[in-house]
Amino acid sequence: MKTENYDIVIIGSGLGGLTAATLLSRKGFKTLVVESRNRIGGRFSTFEYEGFKLPTGAILIPDGWVIKLLEEMGININNLRPVTRVYYRINGKSYDIPPEIGVPKALDIIDKLEREEAEKKGRPMKPVELSQIMRGYYKKMKGIKQDEILTVRDWLLQYTENEKVHEAFDTLCTGLMMAHTWELPISKFFLFQAMEKFFIAPNGNLSIAKELARVVEKNGSVWTNCPARKIIVKEGKATSVIVEKAGEQIEIKCKIVISNTGAKTTVALAGRENFDDEYLKVMRIRLRPSPCLLALIASDKPLCLEGIHDGLEIIMGSRRIKTVIPISNICPELIPPGQHLIYTSAKSESTLHPMDVKYEIQQIKRDIKDFFPDFEKHGRILKMRACGIINEWPEGRTWLCHGMPSETPIPNLFNVGDSCVAPGLIGTPGSVESGYRVADLVEKIL
Ligand SMILES: Cc1cc2nc3c(=O)[nH]c(=O)nc-3n(C[C@H](O)[C@H](O)[C@H](O)COP(=O)(O)OP(=O)(O)OC[C@H]3O[C@@H](n4cnc5c(N)ncnc54)[C@H](O)[C@@H]3O)c2cc1C
Repeated sequence: MKTENYDIVIIGSGLGGLTAATLLSRKGFKTLVVESRNRIGGRFSTFEYEGFKLPTGAILIPDGWVIKLLEEMGININNLRPVTRVYYRINGKSYDIPPEIGVPKALDIIDKLEREEAEKKGRPMKPVELSQIMRGYYKKMKGIKQDEILTVRDWLLQYTENEKVHEAFDTLCTGLMMAHTWELPISKFFLFQAMEKFFIAPNGNLSIAKELARVVEKNGSVWTNCPARKIIVKEGKATSVIVEKAGEQIEIKCKIVISNTGAKTTVALAGRENFDDEYLKVMRIRLRPSPCLLALIASDKPLCLEGIHDGLEIIMGSRRIKTVIPISNICPELIPPGQHLIYTSAKSESTLHPMDVKYEIQQIKRDIKDFFPDFEKHGRILKMRACGIINEWPEGRTWLCHGMPSETPIPNLFNVGDSCVAPGLIGTPGSVESGYRVADLVEKIL
Protein backbone atom coordinates (compact mmCIF):
# COMPACT_ATOMS: atom_id res chain seq x y z
CA MET A 1 0.00 0.00 0.00
CA LYS A 2 1.22 3.50 -0.81
CA THR A 3 2.29 5.48 2.29
CA GLU A 4 2.63 9.19 3.07
CA ASN A 5 3.85 11.04 6.16
CA TYR A 6 2.22 13.89 8.07
CA ASP A 7 2.59 15.19 11.63
CA ILE A 8 -1.15 15.28 12.13
CA VAL A 9 -4.11 13.65 10.37
CA ILE A 10 -7.52 15.17 10.95
CA ILE A 11 -10.49 13.03 9.96
CA GLY A 12 -13.41 15.23 8.92
CA SER A 13 -13.56 18.85 7.78
CA GLY A 14 -16.38 20.09 10.05
CA LEU A 15 -15.80 23.24 12.07
CA GLY A 16 -14.02 21.37 14.89
CA GLY A 17 -11.66 19.67 12.44
CA LEU A 18 -10.95 22.86 10.48
CA THR A 19 -10.31 24.80 13.69
CA ALA A 20 -7.71 22.33 14.93
CA ALA A 21 -6.23 22.09 11.42
CA THR A 22 -5.81 25.85 10.93
CA LEU A 23 -4.31 26.38 14.38
CA LEU A 24 -1.86 23.49 14.10
CA SER A 25 -0.80 24.05 10.52
CA ARG A 26 -0.16 27.71 11.37
CA LYS A 27 2.13 26.50 14.16
CA GLY A 28 4.18 24.73 11.50
CA PHE A 29 2.91 21.15 11.85
CA LYS A 30 2.39 19.31 8.58
CA THR A 31 -1.34 18.70 8.69
CA LEU A 32 -3.67 16.63 6.52
CA VAL A 33 -7.46 16.93 6.64
CA VAL A 34 -9.38 14.07 5.01
CA GLU A 35 -13.06 14.54 4.22
CA SER A 36 -15.28 11.72 2.97
CA ARG A 37 -17.77 14.01 1.18
CA ASN A 38 -17.19 16.03 -1.97
CA ARG A 39 -17.51 19.29 -0.02
CA ILE A 40 -15.89 20.52 3.16
CA GLY A 41 -17.55 22.01 6.26
CA GLY A 42 -19.84 19.15 7.39
CA ARG A 43 -22.90 20.66 9.07
CA PHE A 44 -21.39 24.12 8.51
CA SER A 45 -21.54 24.15 4.75
CA THR A 46 -23.67 25.06 1.74
CA PHE A 47 -25.18 23.25 -1.23
CA GLU A 48 -26.83 24.63 -4.34
CA TYR A 49 -30.40 23.67 -5.16
CA GLU A 50 -32.57 25.25 -7.86
CA GLY A 51 -30.41 28.37 -7.71
CA PHE A 52 -30.65 28.69 -3.91
CA LYS A 53 -27.56 28.40 -1.69
CA LEU A 54 -28.86 26.26 1.15
CA PRO A 55 -27.27 25.41 4.50
CA THR A 56 -26.30 21.81 5.29
CA GLY A 57 -26.99 22.58 8.95
CA ALA A 58 -26.04 25.70 10.87
CA ILE A 59 -27.34 29.05 9.68
CA LEU A 60 -26.77 31.35 12.65
CA ILE A 61 -23.19 32.03 13.65
CA PRO A 62 -23.17 33.18 17.27
CA ASP A 63 -20.71 35.88 18.27
CA GLY A 64 -17.79 34.44 20.22
CA TRP A 65 -15.66 31.41 19.35
CA VAL A 66 -16.33 31.28 15.60
CA ILE A 67 -15.70 35.00 15.13
CA LYS A 68 -12.52 34.77 17.26
CA LEU A 69 -11.24 31.98 14.99
CA LEU A 70 -12.01 33.87 11.78
CA GLU A 71 -10.33 37.01 13.08
CA GLU A 72 -7.24 35.09 14.16
CA MET A 73 -7.01 33.45 10.74
CA GLY A 74 -7.20 36.81 8.99
CA ILE A 75 -10.59 36.05 7.46
CA ASN A 76 -12.73 39.08 6.78
CA ILE A 77 -15.72 39.15 9.09
CA ASN A 78 -17.02 42.54 8.02
CA ASN A 79 -19.24 41.05 5.36
CA LEU A 80 -21.06 38.80 7.86
CA ARG A 81 -24.66 39.96 8.16
CA PRO A 82 -25.76 40.62 11.76
CA VAL A 83 -29.14 39.30 12.84
CA THR A 84 -29.99 42.12 15.14
CA ARG A 85 -33.57 41.54 16.17
CA VAL A 86 -35.17 38.73 18.11
CA TYR A 87 -38.93 38.34 17.93
CA TYR A 88 -41.01 36.13 20.17
CA ARG A 89 -44.22 34.80 18.69
CA ILE A 90 -46.69 34.41 21.53
CA ASN A 91 -50.34 33.47 20.93
CA GLY A 92 -49.91 34.13 17.22
CA LYS A 93 -48.51 37.66 17.58
CA SER A 94 -44.87 38.72 17.22
CA TYR A 95 -43.10 40.83 19.83
CA ASP A 96 -39.75 42.50 19.20
CA ILE A 97 -37.78 41.87 22.41
CA PRO A 98 -34.11 42.74 22.91
CA PRO A 99 -32.20 39.48 23.61
CA GLU A 100 -30.83 40.67 26.96
CA ILE A 101 -34.32 40.87 28.48
CA GLY A 102 -35.84 38.06 26.43
CA VAL A 103 -37.08 35.60 29.05
CA PRO A 104 -38.52 38.01 31.67
CA LYS A 105 -40.13 40.16 28.99
CA ALA A 106 -41.69 37.15 27.24
CA LEU A 107 -43.04 35.90 30.58
CA ASP A 108 -44.41 39.37 31.33
CA ILE A 109 -46.27 39.34 28.00
CA ILE A 110 -47.60 35.84 28.67
CA ASP A 111 -48.82 37.03 32.10
CA LYS A 112 -50.75 39.95 30.57
CA LEU A 113 -52.24 37.82 27.78
CA GLU A 114 -53.28 35.11 30.21
CA ARG A 115 -54.99 37.65 32.47
CA GLU A 116 -56.86 39.22 29.55
CA GLU A 117 -57.95 35.82 28.27
CA ALA A 118 -59.12 34.70 31.72
CA GLU A 119 -61.10 37.93 32.18
CA LYS A 120 -62.65 37.67 28.73
CA LYS A 121 -63.70 34.08 29.25
CA GLY A 122 -64.60 34.62 32.91
CA ARG A 123 -62.47 31.70 34.02
CA PRO A 124 -59.72 31.44 36.65
CA MET A 125 -56.15 31.50 35.35
CA LYS A 126 -53.14 29.51 36.41
CA PRO A 127 -50.84 32.26 37.72
CA VAL A 128 -47.65 32.92 35.77
CA GLU A 129 -45.76 33.89 38.98
CA LEU A 130 -43.24 35.96 37.05
CA SER A 131 -41.50 37.47 40.10
CA GLN A 132 -41.19 34.08 41.82
CA ILE A 133 -39.78 32.45 38.69
CA MET A 134 -37.27 35.26 38.19
CA ARG A 135 -36.25 35.17 41.87
CA GLY A 136 -35.76 31.42 41.64
CA TYR A 137 -33.92 31.93 38.35
CA TYR A 138 -31.33 34.34 39.72
CA LYS A 139 -30.93 32.40 42.97
CA LYS A 140 -30.24 29.24 40.99
CA MET A 141 -27.78 30.97 38.68
CA LYS A 142 -25.65 31.78 41.71
CA GLY A 143 -25.64 28.34 43.30
CA ILE A 144 -25.90 25.47 40.87
CA LYS A 145 -25.19 22.06 42.26
CA GLN A 146 -23.62 19.96 39.54
CA ASP A 147 -25.25 16.74 40.67
CA GLU A 148 -28.78 18.11 40.67
CA ILE A 149 -30.96 15.81 38.62
CA LEU A 150 -34.23 17.74 38.90
CA THR A 151 -35.39 18.45 35.35
CA VAL A 152 -36.02 21.99 34.07
CA ARG A 153 -39.74 21.19 34.01
CA ASP A 154 -39.74 20.00 37.64
CA TRP A 155 -37.80 23.10 38.72
CA LEU A 156 -40.34 25.33 36.97
CA LEU A 157 -43.27 23.42 38.45
CA GLN A 158 -42.17 24.68 41.87
CA TYR A 159 -43.35 28.13 40.77
CA THR A 160 -46.05 27.70 38.17
CA GLU A 161 -48.32 25.23 36.44
CA ASN A 162 -49.19 27.70 33.70
CA GLU A 163 -48.92 25.78 30.41
CA LYS A 164 -47.88 28.82 28.38
CA VAL A 165 -44.89 29.41 30.67
CA HIS A 166 -43.92 25.76 30.36
CA GLU A 167 -44.21 26.01 26.57
CA ALA A 168 -41.98 29.11 26.61
CA PHE A 169 -39.26 27.37 28.61
CA ASP A 170 -39.51 24.30 26.40
CA THR A 171 -39.03 26.43 23.28
CA LEU A 172 -35.88 27.94 24.77
CA CYS A 173 -34.59 24.59 25.94
CA THR A 174 -35.06 22.80 22.62
CA GLY A 175 -33.86 25.77 20.58
CA LEU A 176 -30.74 26.50 22.57
CA MET A 177 -29.84 23.45 24.60
CA MET A 178 -30.88 20.56 22.35
CA ALA A 179 -33.35 18.86 24.74
CA HIS A 180 -36.87 19.30 26.15
CA THR A 181 -37.52 20.71 29.62
CA TRP A 182 -38.62 17.28 30.85
CA GLU A 183 -35.35 15.76 29.66
CA LEU A 184 -32.68 18.28 30.61
CA PRO A 185 -31.40 18.52 34.22
CA ILE A 186 -31.78 22.00 35.72
CA SER A 187 -28.08 22.00 36.71
CA LYS A 188 -27.19 21.97 32.98
CA PHE A 189 -29.76 24.62 32.04
CA PHE A 190 -28.09 27.23 34.22
CA LEU A 191 -24.65 26.58 32.77
CA PHE A 192 -25.74 27.69 29.29
CA GLN A 193 -23.62 30.54 27.96
CA ALA A 194 -26.27 32.77 26.43
CA MET A 195 -25.63 34.13 22.94
CA GLU A 196 -26.95 37.57 22.22
CA LYS A 197 -25.59 38.34 18.79
CA PHE A 198 -25.74 36.24 15.64
CA PHE A 199 -24.49 36.51 12.08
CA ILE A 200 -25.29 34.90 8.75
CA ALA A 201 -22.67 34.36 6.03
CA PRO A 202 -23.99 36.11 2.88
CA ASN A 203 -22.15 33.67 0.60
CA GLY A 204 -22.98 30.60 2.65
CA ASN A 205 -20.92 28.84 5.30
CA LEU A 206 -19.04 26.88 2.66
CA SER A 207 -17.28 30.11 1.66
CA ILE A 208 -15.96 30.40 5.24
CA ALA A 209 -14.97 26.72 5.37
CA LYS A 210 -13.04 27.23 2.11
CA GLU A 211 -11.15 30.19 3.57
CA LEU A 212 -10.21 28.10 6.60
CA ALA A 213 -9.06 25.30 4.28
CA ARG A 214 -6.85 27.80 2.44
CA VAL A 215 -5.11 28.57 5.76
CA VAL A 216 -4.48 24.84 6.31
CA GLU A 217 -3.16 24.43 2.79
CA LYS A 218 -0.30 26.85 3.46
CA ASN A 219 1.36 24.08 5.44
CA GLY A 220 -0.72 21.02 4.72
CA SER A 221 -3.48 19.53 2.60
CA VAL A 222 -7.24 19.10 2.55
CA TRP A 223 -8.47 16.07 0.61
CA THR A 224 -12.16 15.71 -0.23
CA ASN A 225 -13.85 12.50 -1.48
CA CYS A 226 -11.41 10.78 0.82
CA PRO A 227 -12.97 8.68 3.61
CA ALA A 228 -10.81 7.44 6.45
CA ARG A 229 -11.36 3.66 6.68
CA LYS A 230 -9.28 2.77 9.72
CA ILE A 231 -7.13 4.26 12.44
CA ILE A 232 -4.23 1.86 13.00
CA VAL A 233 -3.36 1.42 16.69
CA LYS A 234 -0.15 -0.32 17.66
CA GLU A 235 1.02 -0.85 21.25
CA GLY A 236 -1.65 1.52 22.52
CA LYS A 237 -0.82 4.41 20.15
CA ALA A 238 -2.34 5.60 16.88
CA THR A 239 0.35 5.19 14.24
CA SER A 240 -1.47 5.84 10.95
CA VAL A 241 -4.78 6.30 9.17
CA ILE A 242 -5.86 4.25 6.18
CA VAL A 243 -7.75 6.45 3.72
CA GLU A 244 -9.34 5.83 0.35
CA LYS A 245 -8.41 8.25 -2.38
CA ALA A 246 -9.44 7.87 -6.02
CA GLY A 247 -10.19 4.18 -5.50
CA GLU A 248 -6.82 3.51 -3.92
CA GLN A 249 -5.98 2.86 -0.25
CA ILE A 250 -3.20 4.98 1.22
CA GLU A 251 -1.61 4.64 4.66
CA ILE A 252 -0.93 8.06 6.20
CA LYS A 253 1.69 7.69 8.90
CA CYS A 254 1.44 10.37 11.60
CA LYS A 255 2.20 11.37 15.17
CA ILE A 256 -1.29 12.55 16.10
CA VAL A 257 -4.79 11.64 14.91
CA ILE A 258 -7.69 14.05 15.48
CA SER A 259 -11.17 12.81 14.67
CA ASN A 260 -14.04 15.14 13.82
CA THR A 261 -16.40 12.28 13.07
CA GLY A 262 -18.06 12.08 16.49
CA ALA A 263 -16.78 9.98 19.38
CA LYS A 264 -18.76 6.88 18.35
CA THR A 265 -17.35 6.78 14.82
CA THR A 266 -13.85 7.39 16.21
CA VAL A 267 -14.22 4.23 18.31
CA ALA A 268 -15.43 2.28 15.28
CA LEU A 269 -12.49 3.52 13.17
CA ALA A 270 -9.86 2.72 15.80
CA GLY A 271 -11.47 -0.56 16.99
CA ARG A 272 -13.51 -1.02 20.20
CA GLU A 273 -10.84 -3.30 21.60
CA ASN A 274 -8.56 -0.28 22.03
CA PHE A 275 -10.96 1.55 24.39
CA ASP A 276 -11.48 0.58 28.02
CA ASP A 277 -14.93 -0.24 29.42
CA GLU A 278 -15.08 2.98 31.42
CA TYR A 279 -14.63 5.12 28.29
CA LEU A 280 -17.26 3.15 26.39
CA LYS A 281 -19.66 3.43 29.33
CA VAL A 282 -19.22 7.22 29.57
CA MET A 283 -19.76 7.45 25.81
CA ARG A 284 -23.05 5.54 26.05
CA ILE A 285 -24.28 7.76 28.87
CA ARG A 286 -23.11 11.13 27.57
CA LEU A 287 -23.82 11.03 23.87
CA ARG A 288 -27.40 12.07 23.31
CA PRO A 289 -27.74 13.20 19.70
CA SER A 290 -30.38 15.84 19.31
CA PRO A 291 -32.83 15.51 16.41
CA CYS A 292 -34.31 18.38 14.45
CA LEU A 293 -36.26 18.96 11.27
CA LEU A 294 -35.31 21.63 8.86
CA ALA A 295 -37.90 23.07 6.47
CA LEU A 296 -36.73 25.55 3.86
CA ILE A 297 -39.69 27.39 2.38
CA ALA A 298 -39.41 29.19 -0.95
CA SER A 299 -42.03 31.61 -2.25
CA ASP A 300 -42.61 34.14 -5.01
CA LYS A 301 -43.66 36.80 -2.48
CA PRO A 302 -42.53 37.43 1.10
CA LEU A 303 -44.47 35.06 3.36
CA CYS A 304 -43.16 36.19 6.71
CA LEU A 305 -45.44 37.99 9.06
CA GLU A 306 -45.49 41.72 8.83
CA GLY A 307 -42.60 43.39 10.63
CA ILE A 308 -40.36 40.31 10.79
CA HIS A 309 -37.80 41.63 8.36
CA ASP A 310 -34.29 41.07 9.54
CA GLY A 311 -34.58 38.97 12.63
CA LEU A 312 -34.87 35.61 14.19
CA GLU A 313 -38.29 34.65 15.38
CA ILE A 314 -38.70 32.29 18.32
CA ILE A 315 -42.07 30.55 18.25
CA MET A 316 -43.70 29.80 21.58
CA GLY A 317 -46.24 27.04 21.86
CA SER A 318 -46.30 25.77 18.26
CA ARG A 319 -46.68 22.11 17.35
CA ARG A 320 -43.11 21.69 16.12
CA ILE A 321 -41.54 24.79 14.52
CA LYS A 322 -39.41 26.68 17.03
CA THR A 323 -37.42 29.10 14.90
CA VAL A 324 -38.19 31.11 11.76
CA ILE A 325 -35.61 33.16 9.86
CA PRO A 326 -36.51 35.12 6.71
CA ILE A 327 -33.16 34.48 5.04
CA SER A 328 -33.93 36.39 1.83
CA ASN A 329 -34.45 39.59 3.84
CA ILE A 330 -31.08 39.24 5.55
CA CYS A 331 -28.92 37.69 2.81
CA PRO A 332 -30.57 38.11 -0.62
CA GLU A 333 -27.31 36.88 -2.18
CA LEU A 334 -28.29 33.33 -1.23
CA ILE A 335 -31.55 33.43 -3.18
CA PRO A 336 -32.27 33.57 -6.95
CA PRO A 337 -33.92 36.80 -8.19
CA GLY A 338 -37.67 37.05 -7.65
CA GLN A 339 -37.66 34.38 -4.96
CA HIS A 340 -37.87 34.45 -1.14
CA LEU A 341 -36.68 31.94 1.42
CA ILE A 342 -37.61 31.19 5.00
CA TYR A 343 -35.53 28.90 7.19
CA THR A 344 -37.51 27.09 9.85
CA SER A 345 -36.23 24.57 12.33
CA ALA A 346 -38.43 22.25 14.30
CA LYS A 347 -38.07 19.84 17.18
CA SER A 348 -39.69 16.45 17.42
CA GLU A 349 -41.61 15.31 20.47
CA SER A 350 -38.66 13.55 22.05
CA THR A 351 -34.93 14.01 21.81
CA LEU A 352 -34.38 10.59 23.33
CA HIS A 353 -36.37 8.40 20.97
CA PRO A 354 -36.13 8.05 17.20
CA MET A 355 -38.71 10.25 15.48
CA ASP A 356 -41.65 9.13 13.38
CA VAL A 357 -40.58 11.23 10.40
CA LYS A 358 -43.92 11.02 8.57
CA TYR A 359 -45.87 12.17 11.60
CA GLU A 360 -43.40 14.95 12.44
CA ILE A 361 -43.57 16.28 8.87
CA GLN A 362 -47.38 16.36 9.07
CA GLN A 363 -47.13 18.46 12.22
CA ILE A 364 -44.66 20.85 10.59
CA LYS A 365 -46.92 21.27 7.57
CA ARG A 366 -49.79 22.19 9.89
CA ASP A 367 -47.56 24.78 11.59
CA ILE A 368 -46.55 26.22 8.22
CA LYS A 369 -50.21 26.63 7.20
CA ASP A 370 -50.96 28.39 10.48
CA PHE A 371 -47.98 30.74 10.38
CA PHE A 372 -47.94 31.70 6.73
CA PRO A 373 -51.48 32.24 5.40
CA ASP A 374 -50.16 32.83 1.85
CA PHE A 375 -48.13 29.63 1.77
CA GLU A 376 -50.60 27.55 -0.24
CA LYS A 377 -50.88 30.19 -2.95
CA HIS A 378 -47.32 31.49 -3.12
CA GLY A 379 -45.02 29.10 -1.31
CA ARG A 380 -43.55 25.62 -1.52
CA ILE A 381 -41.33 23.51 0.65
CA LEU A 382 -38.04 23.64 -1.18
CA LYS A 383 -36.28 21.14 1.08
CA MET A 384 -37.24 19.27 4.20
CA ARG A 385 -34.55 17.45 6.11
CA ALA A 386 -35.02 15.19 9.11
CA CYS A 387 -31.86 15.16 11.23
CA GLY A 388 -32.64 12.20 13.46
CA ILE A 389 -30.84 10.78 16.45
CA ILE A 390 -29.87 7.63 14.59
CA ASN A 391 -28.47 9.14 11.42
CA GLU A 392 -25.05 10.77 11.29
CA TRP A 393 -26.34 14.32 10.85
CA PRO A 394 -28.08 15.34 14.11
CA GLU A 395 -28.48 18.97 15.16
CA GLY A 396 -25.99 18.30 17.90
CA ARG A 397 -24.13 15.10 18.76
CA THR A 398 -25.13 15.65 22.35
CA TRP A 399 -27.13 17.93 24.65
CA LEU A 400 -25.83 20.92 26.53
CA CYS A 401 -23.22 19.91 29.14
CA HIS A 402 -23.18 16.28 27.98
CA GLY A 403 -19.97 16.50 25.93
CA MET A 404 -17.34 13.76 26.01
CA PRO A 405 -13.75 14.60 26.93
CA SER A 406 -11.63 15.26 23.82
CA GLU A 407 -8.93 12.95 25.12
CA THR A 408 -9.34 9.23 24.52
CA PRO A 409 -7.63 6.24 26.18
CA ILE A 410 -5.25 6.33 23.19
CA PRO A 411 -2.86 9.14 24.17
CA ASN A 412 -2.31 10.53 20.66
CA LEU A 413 -5.93 10.23 19.46
CA PHE A 414 -8.34 13.12 20.12
CA ASN A 415 -11.91 14.04 19.29
CA VAL A 416 -13.08 17.48 18.17
CA GLY A 417 -16.54 18.67 17.23
CA ASP A 418 -19.88 18.80 18.95
CA SER A 419 -19.64 15.35 20.54
CA CYS A 420 -17.09 16.83 22.95
CA VAL A 421 -18.42 20.32 23.63
CA ALA A 422 -17.28 22.08 26.81
CA PRO A 423 -19.89 22.72 29.53
CA GLY A 424 -22.16 25.61 28.58
CA LEU A 425 -21.44 25.51 24.84
CA ILE A 426 -23.28 23.90 21.93
CA GLY A 427 -23.35 24.13 18.12
CA THR A 428 -20.68 25.95 16.14
CA PRO A 429 -19.09 27.73 19.15
CA GLY A 430 -18.84 24.36 20.91
CA SER A 431 -17.12 22.75 17.91
CA VAL A 432 -14.66 25.62 17.47
CA GLU A 433 -13.78 25.68 21.18
CA SER A 434 -13.06 21.94 21.07
CA GLY A 435 -10.66 22.58 18.16
CA TYR A 436 -8.80 25.22 20.19
CA ARG A 437 -8.61 22.91 23.23
CA VAL A 438 -7.25 20.00 21.22
CA ALA A 439 -4.78 22.15 19.26
CA ASP A 440 -3.38 23.26 22.64
CA LEU A 441 -3.05 19.68 23.89
CA VAL A 442 -1.42 18.54 20.65
CA GLU A 443 1.05 21.40 20.64
CA LYS A 444 2.17 20.41 24.13
CA ILE A 445 2.66 16.77 23.08
CA LEU A 446 4.57 17.57 19.90
C1 LIG B 1 -30.23 21.44 10.83
C2 LIG B 1 -29.14 21.98 11.72
C3 LIG B 1 -29.18 23.31 12.12
C4 LIG B 1 -28.18 23.84 12.93
N1 LIG B 1 -28.21 25.16 13.25
C5 LIG B 1 -27.17 25.71 13.94
C6 LIG B 1 -27.08 27.12 14.09
O1 LIG B 1 -27.92 27.87 13.56
N2 LIG B 1 -26.02 27.62 14.79
C7 LIG B 1 -25.07 26.81 15.33
O2 LIG B 1 -24.15 27.33 15.97
N3 LIG B 1 -25.11 25.47 15.16
C8 LIG B 1 -26.13 24.90 14.46
N4 LIG B 1 -26.16 23.56 14.21
C9 LIG B 1 -25.08 22.73 14.79
C10 LIG B 1 -23.76 22.87 14.03
O3 LIG B 1 -24.01 22.76 12.64
C11 LIG B 1 -22.82 21.76 14.47
O4 LIG B 1 -22.73 21.75 15.88
C12 LIG B 1 -21.40 21.93 13.93
O5 LIG B 1 -21.38 22.40 12.61
C13 LIG B 1 -20.74 20.57 14.03
O6 LIG B 1 -19.40 20.64 13.64
P1 LIG B 1 -18.42 19.44 13.90
O7 LIG B 1 -17.07 20.01 14.15
O8 LIG B 1 -18.95 18.51 14.94
O9 LIG B 1 -18.31 18.69 12.51
P2 LIG B 1 -19.40 18.06 11.51
O10 LIG B 1 -20.17 19.14 10.91
O11 LIG B 1 -20.09 16.91 12.14
O12 LIG B 1 -18.42 17.51 10.39
C14 LIG B 1 -17.80 16.25 10.45
C15 LIG B 1 -17.23 15.94 9.08
O13 LIG B 1 -16.56 14.67 9.14
C16 LIG B 1 -16.79 14.00 7.90
N5 LIG B 1 -16.55 12.56 8.12
C17 LIG B 1 -17.31 11.70 8.84
N6 LIG B 1 -16.76 10.46 8.78
C18 LIG B 1 -15.63 10.55 8.03
C19 LIG B 1 -14.62 9.63 7.61
N7 LIG B 1 -14.66 8.33 7.95
N8 LIG B 1 -13.60 10.07 6.85
C20 LIG B 1 -13.54 11.38 6.49
N9 LIG B 1 -14.48 12.31 6.84
C21 LIG B 1 -15.49 11.89 7.60
C22 LIG B 1 -18.23 14.34 7.58
O14 LIG B 1 -18.51 14.15 6.21
C23 LIG B 1 -18.30 15.81 7.99
O15 LIG B 1 -17.97 16.67 6.93
C24 LIG B 1 -27.12 23.01 13.37
C25 LIG B 1 -27.07 21.67 12.95
C26 LIG B 1 -28.05 21.17 12.11
C27 LIG B 1 -27.96 19.75 11.62
